[in-house]
Amino acid sequence: MTTSTSTQTLRIGNLIAGRRLPGEGSERRNPADPTDLVAVAPSSGGDEADAAVSAAADAQPAWAALPAPARGAVLMDAAEILRGRHETVARDLVREEGKTLAEARGEVRRAIDVLRYFGSAGWHSDGRTLPSSQPDTLVHTRREPLGVVGVITPWNFPVAIPAWKTAPALISGNAVVLKPAEITPVSAHHLSEALLAAGLPPGVLNVVHGRGSVVGESLTADPRVAAVSFTGSTSVGLRIERALHERRGRVQVEMGGKNALVVLDDADVAKAARIASAGGFALTGQACTASSRVICTPAVHDALVDALIGEARRYRPGNGLAEGTLMGPVVSEQQLASDLDAIRTARAEGATVAAGGESAQGLMLDPAILTNVGRGDTVARDEIFGPVLAVLPAADLDEAIDLVNDSRYGLAAGICTRDLAAAQHFAHHARAGVIKVNRPTTGLDLNVPFGGVKDSSTNTYREQGATAVDFYTWSKSVYLGWDG
Ligand code: NAD
Repeated sequence: MTTSTSTQTLRIGNLIAGRRLPGEGSERRNPADPTDLVAVAPSSGGDEADAAVSAAADAQPAWAALPAPARGAVLMDAAEILRGRHETVARDLVREEGKTLAEARGEVRRAIDVLRYFGSAGWHSDGRTLPSSQPDTLVHTRREPLGVVGVITPWNFPVAIPAWKTAPALISGNAVVLKPAEITPVSAHHLSEALLAAGLPPGVLNVVHGRGSVVGESLTADPRVAAVSFTGSTSVGLRIERALHERRGRVQVEMGGKNALVVLDDADVAKAARIASAGGFALTGQACTASSRVICTPAVHDALVDALIGEARRYRPGNGLAEGTLMGPVVSEQQLASDLDAIRTARAEGATVAAGGESAQGLMLDPAILTNVGRGDTVARDEIFGPVLAVLPAADLDEAIDLVNDSRYGLAAGICTRDLAAAQHFAHHARAGVIKVNRPTTGLDLNVPFGGVKDSSTNTYREQGATAVDFYTWSKSVYLGWDG
């Protein structure tokens, strides 16, 4: 078992055919403290990806032949093992990604619950019985596994996303090759350790660390990989979608967002500001469902901006491991440079920086409130993936909805109002996969279908909940005549 104290460096190996294969090439340092070397992981090549796919292909038939409740028992046991390591895994998650300890504990909790949820799904058959036009005939459907599945994940939820993709794949009888984000190898390592310790047979889950352009591309191109489930940026996602379509593989791609929160004149301003800041600044704004546009009607505009400035001061960035920190650092120098560039561009296009937007120390970025933003401005259109809220005015609900929908993205959208009719109208007309009324745009329960529309998603299969297994299975119709 791998354990670590808050300063131990983890030497992480690939997991191929049940064996840990050490390697080097990639170092991860704590974004809150660059002297803390969190992990050394392999920078793998195509050969390792190839070996992992071979191991998965060899292991998959025997895994699929196990009764589903037996597969589920492994996931349930893994959940218990991860529960026993909850605090260690949460602390390592803070060290490698930067989020706060409370956020990391919540994320590890999510991974545990996801394993339990899909573990218990082993007892639920997803097939259907249908009436037949012929006498003495039973017609039923079965869900069949796809075979070997590639799972490619981002750094922002480094244990929850690998868990919510891997668990439904495994319970459905697939074998998995997981490629975690290069800068967050530790969390996925802990997840795979829990599954191994729970008795997952060798080769059923393989983990290959390394660069997306090498390991990710290799998985995407391999004809033995029947399907790829990807979460990450839109540019990479669209490329993977094209590659899988070309070879007729199945693909599920969840990508970026430019999520808007509408605040109507009748809203409670203080509550709306808290909802906007929770959606915009929690997780350092590094959530695909983070609010990044606040669209407000005239009577509420000035009071809301004042309240948002107060909220921005509350989310002072700090080390996620320190007591009382509400917001951690930005994940990397590259991400910080991109956040600061977005703020500079907004200013150059005429926006006012009403609060924050400076990084005084390391990767600590004061959350920013931008006003005087126009709908065509870059800051109103491009995903930033940082703690930046752009405030846009709208004359009324209809213009607000028009602004929400004036985006290439369609992941999450929210509204703050006490008017039920306005809320319902919004829920019907906002083009987004997730709609929140009087709640932050971020955060979904694990049993709720999740995904976007437009350039946020392939919009084919939803993740999470009972619908998640649809992606990892195909439907077979069986006729059984009993007069033979
Ligand atoms: P990214 O696209 O850079 O990387 C995601 C994963 O893809 C990583 O494992 C990376 O190594 C791999 N990858 C990179 N290039 C590849 C290639 N050519 N072929 C195959 N794989 C490749 O994204 P990121 O920076 O890790 O994450 C941030 C992005 O993720 C944001 O855009 C965010 O909105 C998005 N995201 C979306 C959701 C969602 O559910 N919609 C959830 C979380 C994050």
